Amino acid sequence: MVAAKLNLQKIISQFAKNYGKPGAPITTDPFELILLENIAYLVSDERREDAFAMLRKHAGTKPHEILSASHDDILKATKLGGMHPEQRVSRLREIALIAMNEFEGDLKPALRLPLPKAKQALRKFPSIGEPSAEKILLFTRSYPILGLDSNGLRVLVRLGFGEEKKNYPATYRSVQEAINDQLKKDYGWLINAHVLLRQHGKELCKTNRPLCDKCPVKRSCAYFQRTFVSVPLAVLTLMYHNQTQTHNQIENHHHLRIPPVVMNHAAQEKSCKSAERA
Ligand code: SF4
Repeated sequence: MVAAKLNLQKIISQFAKNYGKPGAPITTDPFELILLENIAYLVSDERREDAFAMLRKHAGTKPHEILSASHDDILKATKLGGMHPEQRVSRLREIALIAMNEFEGDLKPALRLPLPKAKQALRKFPSIGEPSAEKILLFTRSYPILGLDSNGLRVLVRLGFGEEKKNYPATYRSVQEAINDQLKKDYGWLINAHVLLRQHGKELCKTNRPLCDKCPVKRSCAYFQRTFVSVPLAVLTLMYHNQTQTHNQIENHHHLRIPPVVMNHAAQEKSCKSAERA
């Protein structure tokens, strides 16, 4: 199986070479991380961070500050965070209320609970499911686990860690089981791995039409082998041998992109077969 040959630490190093070492996170405070998750919707990371900086400046980012800030001051920040800014003002207030009522305004003691209970505590907040809870426990350096967002998860599944299951939580668990024995128990490495996997998912390993030609780890990738090498190569070789279609016709007909590496391979195959026939 491809997954058995994969080396996660080597892959993360290749991403670090390609993208550079990630900068420090904007915050490592658990309550602020929850605000950051909720302050924006469907915007870039830069825009989300701008919205968060605006919140810090005009309203504050402690539970009591959010509750005492004016609606308009919070709105200044949520407006930067994309659509439905009014709804997010209410959500930030709800988050502050949960923090005050259930955690006496301080989430840090909850992070020291045993792992399942710590996750359960964080999941009381809106938009915080298991992956976000794990990210918070990682970024606050509470537990050395690799929380993954949807980008990171997609990258790891395509590479061949774990399997795509019927639903997101099952896929998430499958990937976590597959990477578990390859994780460095080092917070700096784990945080960088989270950021780099996310960045790779956003920039190259996109949901639709990943840019595999530019990918630094394509040689290790199960998806690349399956999609751009094995199947197209077989199809292309067959078509070349029968001399029925050009590669452009093959690409259009099969909705495939045939990278240069496959073209070269197929051309070599073709000339070898021609030489054998001659
Ligand atoms: S080769 Fe393609 S599918 Fe595989 S990790 Fe790279 S971009 Fe993603």
